[in-house]
Amino acid sequence: MVKAEGVHKSFGTAHILKGIDLEVAPREVFCLIGPSGSGKSTFLRCVNHLEQINAGRLWVDGELIGYRQRGDKLYELKDREVAAKRRDIGMVFQRFNLFPHMTAIENIMEGPVQVKRETKAVARERATALLDRVGLSDKAGNYPAQLSGGQQQRVAIARALAMEPKLMLFDEPTSALDPELVGDVLDVMRGLAEDGMTMIVVTHEMGFAREVGDALVFMDDGAVVESGHPRDVLGNPQHDRTKSFLSKVL
Ligand code: ATP
Ligand code: MG
Repeated sequence: MVKAEGVHKSFGTAHILKGIDLEVAPREVFCLIGPSGSGKSTFLRCVNHLEQINAGRLWVDGELIGYRQRGDKLYELKDREVAAKRRDIGMVFQRFNLFPHMTAIENIMEGPVQVKRETKAVARERATALLDRVGLSDKAGNYPAQLSGGQQQRVAIARALAMEPKLMLFDEPTSALDPELVGDVLDVMRGLAEDGMTMIVVTHEMGFAREVGDALVFMDDGAVVESGHPRDVLGNPQHDRTKSFLSKVL
């Protein structure tokens, strides 16, 4: 579903991603861990067309990300093409970025109505079902300020799902939450995994990675240090850098 081959990304002279190779199979929960500044968010942002890679190749569902290929030549995408491709990828960030002036259900309906040109009736029906799925049926009319952080994050997940993405990206979705709110969000993510959604999850929740993850990559300094089944990487890390990182977070 996602394939990265020698992906490099620099900001000015700062070389951040230094040749990332990885592959995410369909329906897989792919966990990405690593120290602060190792490039995890940058990688997700490249997958979602929020950043343009400088070298290498990145595909989502067989489609080249960031560029259009004709013969051997690569061409930059037009904004319109980027927007069309981004539609298939849902992203949930650390900070819940809901529209503050819209209720929970309006937040979820916004993409389908504005971007996909669905009728409000159709969008409302799906949004209602999604609110139910994230356990917030009774909060449809609440504004973000009237929801807890965990509830806002679940609305953010429902909003991403409303676009019917092929792939969901999670960038530390629980790290800004009070500890007692983390479980509800992880439960929603676990349910999504059970339903077969392909997910890349940047997380510090090692319990989630171990229980729900199908694959895990440890990244450091813009490169993949170690990868494998979460049970193996977390339980029996091979590299000193992985061991040292895990000794701090486990
Ligand atoms: P964290 O766990 O703290 O979220 P991360 O692994 O997600 O860290 P990134 O956010 O990908 O790390 O950042 C990797 C490096 O890239 C950092 O040194 C950061 O300062 C740099 N960086 C990220 N975005 C930009 C940008 N737009 N311009 C310049 N430098 C950037
Ligand atoms: Mg980050």
